[in-house]
Amino acid sequence: MTSPPPELGRIRDALLGARSVLLTSHERPDGDSLGSQLALGAALRQLGKQVRIIDYDPAPDLYAFLPDLGTIEIADNVTDRFDTVVVLECSSLDRTGLRGLDERPIINIDHHPGNVMYGTLNWHDESACACAELVSELIDTLGVPLTPAMATQLYVAILTDTGSFRHANITPRTFTICQKIATTGINPTDVASQVYNNGSLGRLRLTGMLLERMQLEHGHRVAVLRLNDAMLAEAGCTPDDIEGIVNIPLAARDVQAVVFFKDTGAAMRVSLRSKGSVDVRQVAVSFGGGGHRNAAGLTIEHPSSETDSLVLSRVAAAITDSEP
Ligand code: 5GP
Ligand code: MN
Repeated sequence: MTSPPPELGRIRDALLGARSVLLTSHERPDGDSLGSQLALGAALRQLGKQVRIIDYDPAPDLYAFLPDLGTIEIADNVTDRFDTVVVLECSSLDRTGLRGLDERPIINIDHHPGNVMYGTLNWHDESACACAELVSELIDTLGVPLTPAMATQLYVAILTDTGSFRHANITPRTFTICQKIATTGINPTDVASQVYNNGSLGRLRLTGMLLERMQLEHGHRVAVLRLNDAMLAEAGCTPDDIEGIVNIPLAARDVQAVVFFKDTGAAMRVSLRSKGSVDVRQVAVSFGGGGHRNAAGLTIEHPSSETDSLVLSRVAAAITDSEP
């Protein structure tokens, strides 16, 4: 048992001393950002705090089953007063997409490499498998018991951020927290089913189309997926339906990295995934994006075949660098 980091005590004291708290997280929220915000919000409400959760983008439909999801407000600017602001899952403040946060007391809680420590209080722990791991410890430190709703929110965060317990940073701490979650009586099988067995038929069709057109580069070590608006329309999908498809090619032994080009608006969104020591975060950072070693993303404002080739060659170089 390691002792808690000193930041945790200071964060607890700041939250216990606050009357009004704003919670937020990154643009295009994922399971970890949503689950972490909702569970911490519920804990703070149990302590009698006035809590608001404001995100820049709405949650993907997939997460509609999350308890209290409807309490999350969507805005691009924060004007109201709060005693403190908790920013979860953001390596820099601009990841929130929100204006109006600069001059406020901020508690920064994150597990992404490269966090720039923008908070008044910063708790940055890259060894956490999900931000929800840190949030679970914070809730414990605040002395608030887990309700089944909070347990569901935290479990979704951990389940999705670990790619169903497959990615890096899964440690004994992860399972200690999951043990506490399961003790509340929630059914982990039902939660997993809501996340993974509840998609649209359009998503299944789109998966087929993407894999059918998948290209293999760099001696089959890089799988390339390409999506455009016409494919979404043909499959009868919304952009929400894309979530998670990028991981599928990693199932092949030869594939060491996946590059998913999403050409569905003015800019090109690119998702990167990799196995083991192949560091796609560095590739994302070189284009102004970020993320984790095995899961990262970037945006290219003016895409062209040259920018596509540059992404692919940097991913190939990351694979070569990882080889002994
Ligand atoms: P995804 O490919 O699912 O959009 O993102 C994978 C991971 O990379 C997530 O942890 C996400 O937060 C991070 N990520 C994606 N896009 C960006 C970006 O533009 N900037 C930063 N800093 N992180 C990103
Ligand atoms: Mn996360």
